Order: sequence, then C-alpha cells, then structure tokens
Amino acid sequence: MDHYALPIANLIDQFSKLPGIGRKSAQRLAFYVLEMDSEEAVKLSSAILEAKERIGFCQVCGNLTDKPVCNICSNTGRDKSLICVVEGPRDIVAMEKSREYKGLYHVLHGTISPMENIGPQDIKIKELLNRLGDDTVKEVVIATNPTVEGEATALYISRLIKPLGVKVTRIAHGIPVGGDLEYFDEITLARAMEGRREM
Ligand SMILES: [Zn+2]
Repeated sequence: MDHYALPIANLIDQFSKLPGIGRKSAQRLAFYVLEMDSEEAVKLSSAILEAKERIGFCQVCGNLTDKPVCNICSNTGRDKSLICVVEGPRDIVAMEKSREYKGLYHVLHGTISPMENIGPQDIKIKELLNRLGDDTVKEVVIATNPTVEGEATALYISRLIKPLGVKVTRIAHGIPVGGDLEYFDEITLARAMEGRREM
C-alpha cells in the first residue's frame, strides 16, 4: 500500500470492506471515483450519508423504511391475517418480487446461532409474539433460510406460536439446503410460498 497517497489508500481500504469486493476491485473502484466529476463524487457520498441518516426500521415489522411504519405495513390492501417471518430486510425484497405473497412481514434481524452466541433474545422474536396478541393474525409463515440456523430458528418460533392458537407454516423448499432466500429466483420463491406446509 506504500505507493498510494494516504487518501487513496483510505478509499481502497473502505471499498475493500464491502461484501464481495476484493483488493483488486477496491482499487478499481477507488480509481474510478478519482476520475469522476466532483459533482458526481458528491452525489455518491451524499447518497450514502442520506440513506444512513434517513433509513431506519419499521416499528411494526422491522423492515427498512424512511417512515415510522413501512409501506407494506401501512398498505390497507395487504392481508393482515398473514405474517411471513424472514431473517433480513433483503428477504422481503426477494419475496415481493415473487408477487405471490400479499400478507405482512416480520423481520427477525438474524437467526438463532449458538455457534455465534446469538440466542432467541438477540433477534426480534419477542416483537413477533407481541404482534399475535389480538385475533387479527391467523397464520405465521416462517421463511427463514434453509440453513441449520434457519431451520433451528423456524422450529423454535413454531413451538412458541402454536400454543397461541395461530397456524404456523414453513415455506416449501424446492430450495437447495444451505441456500439463501435472497438469491432464489421469483418462480422458486412463488412455488415455495404456494407449497408451504403446517409445522
Ligand atoms: Zn413494516
């Protein structure tokens, strides 16, 4: 790194922290930024700042939003008797693309993972249970990823919900074990939702 001026080295460092960006790509991005018009560079940096400042979590479902309650939760056309439980906000984007699902969501913001010392209290399970208080919700569809952690989390949640008299289903997995919801195509996700079965 010695042959770079410090500000360039810093920029490369920052880019290389991004997912899927190795040292080579980080260098390429850094040089690309340096070749940008000042105006474009300002747009890029202020887009990052603005997103960080204005985006927070929906107080109902935990989705990313620039309002207190996200567009999905506040949409009166959605089926409020159905909650689909996902690991992260990106899974909502994937599920929405499938256009199969018209209910609400709940974002756990993680999975139970003893290996990483993440317990049930570290993800948004309590918040999910709080949403089942009245009789509105009739079914909870658990759409955590088909990984060891995702399955364990699904099982844990289903055991908590069943005694409340709410139906619990798990999306069907024509989905490879160890896969990541985010990367499944729309058809696979639509079928997975269609073929969900009771837990
Ligand atoms: Zn929401």
